[in-house]
Amino acid sequence: MNNKVGIYYAYWTRNWDADFVDFVPLVKRLGFDILEVNGGTIARMSIKERERLKAAALSAGVELTYCIGLTREYDLASEDAATRQRGVEFLTRMADAIGDMDGKILGGIIYSSWPGKMPQDVTDKRPFLDRSVAAMTEAVKAAEDNGVLFNVEVVNRFEQYLLNTAQEAVAYVERVNSPNCKILLDTFHMNIEEETFADAIRTAGSRLGHFHLGEANRRPPGRGRLPWDEIFGALGDIGYKGAMTMEPFMVPGGEVGRDISVYRDLTNGLDLDDEAERSAKFVKDKLATL
Ligand code: MN
Repeated sequence: MNNKVGIYYAYWTRNWDADFVDFVPLVKRLGFDILEVNGGTIARMSIKERERLKAAALSAGVELTYCIGLTREYDLASEDAATRQRGVEFLTRMADAIGDMDGKILGGIIYSSWPGKMPQDVTDKRPFLDRSVAAMTEAVKAAEDNGVLFNVEVVNRFEQYLLNTAQEAVAYVERVNSPNCKILLDTFHMNIEEETFADAIRTAGSRLGHFHLGEANRRPPGRGRLPWDEIFGALGDIGYKGAMTMEPFMVPGGEVGRDISVYRDLTNGLDLDDEAERSAKFVKDKLATL
């Protein structure tokens, strides 16, 4: 397999907003094909700022992908219609901005909020799903217009309640029924919720549009116990040709450490750049055997 391999910028940052241009040559030097950046930041950038980033990525030969967890004010599943409308408008702005960048991939918790909990004493999530599907059906038109994929990320129960398994995500995207609404699976979350990695990947099948890599404690691939041969084997079985971006988090502190719940130093004294470079090689070596 020769899928493009990427890394999320927030591995290096304490805040979600950052100047992504600095990371473009760095990830190239460390052996990556892709830099994944914050979709919200892109939507808020001026045209000039976007052009500067686009030019940096083009000249380095680095592809950009985009990720976001919507805050509560944009929750597509909210009981409040104005909140859902803000969410649709924000997704539309992101799709337009990513389109301007000639980007293709947005993923994350774009169908509700991050983090997100069901209200107390509510046990039926179907009304929340219904509202989210309706709002996404509207928002995805901007993705279609811009040639962008909206990939709904399946995450663990401690972070969101609507889509915790690949099976739930398949039901969701079937209801949205757009070629531009697909699924993002993430090995860190799958490790908590799925019966097996291979079955979850096969369940997503042709609806898999993006993929996140990370060990059980969010260290970079190759430093933990996740069954990478099973995972990459199943991706090969379904003919997955898309991107794979790692999303490691190892350093406590700042917005990122707080929101990701990094409460100890996971680097074990290793250098962040060296670890990223080692992990890119680990993933590419595994892919080369398939
Ligand atoms: Mn992820």
